[in-house]
Amino acid sequence: MNCEQRRDLMPLLLVDGLEPAEAAALRAHLAGGCTRCAAYLAEADATLAYLPYALEPVAPAAAAREQLMDRIAQHVPVAAHLRNAPPARRGRGGLRMPAWVRKALPAAVAACVTFIVTAKYMIGVQHTHDDVLQKQLVKVQGEASSRDQRNRELVTQTELLQSPSLRLIRMDGVAQPKASARALWDARRQAWHFYAYNLDTLGPKEAYELWFVTPYGRKVPAITFRPNELGNAYVVTSLDKDVGPVAGAFVTDEPSVGTMQPTGSTHLSGKLE
Ligand SMILES: [Zn+2]
Repeated sequence: MNCEQRRDLMPLLLVDGLEPAEAAALRAHLAGGCTRCAAYLAEADATLAYLPYALEPVAPAAAAREQLMDRIAQHVPVAAHLRNAPPARRGRGGLRMPAWVRKALPAAVAACVTFIVTAKYMIGVQHTHDDVLQKQLVKVQGEASSRDQRNRELVTQTELLQSPSLRLIRMDGVAQPKASARALWDARRQAWHFYAYNLDTLGPKEAYELWFVTPYGRKVPAITFRPNELGNAYVVTSLDKDVGPVAGAFVTDEPSVGTMQPTGSTHLSGKLE
């Protein structure tokens, strides 16, 4: 598959309309740093964020983008519009949906709605099997929400990578050659977003600790974290204002309560680019 073909899959990735294997392959490609696909993802994200406004003549709110995933969760009323009205209908702002949205999204949304309605109906009828069905529904919802979480992370990461005020610290594995991480500065929130991949799992009383380094070599403890079962982690952290500029960052293993000075070995390390 080439990146032109991947472009058509981006909106489906965002509305969780891909097969798990397909979604995983696409996420891996994006995590690999393809800038073209990062742009396609941002483009799909922007189109989806404005989709409800293209269907309903409502002025976009300033905080529209922050609510992206909430809005995707509200696709049930959107789907009703898509079925009752010509899909190419223009909103007041004159936004025209690209062909792939008109084609792909209604089908994806309709499939989701059908699934949810069917699941709810079945629970209603089969009272005796409530337990089993409830558990399945909770499992499906849990999987969907963790996929939402990963999609949100990708969207944020893409936005920060494309920001004109980009500040990036790329960290390579030291004690763990397979591991990697990046910290991205979020000027709006005055916070660092930290993404780590392929870290080894830890003992129950251990945690990884993220440290920032000032230009004068001061080591500032930022946050402790534990990777998920895939060895990945995502945390957002703010430093005290008096820390000032940072020149780099590194990750050590520490007791899970955290420490004020690094004591464990260094697993990841990198300089501000
Ligand atoms: Zn690509």
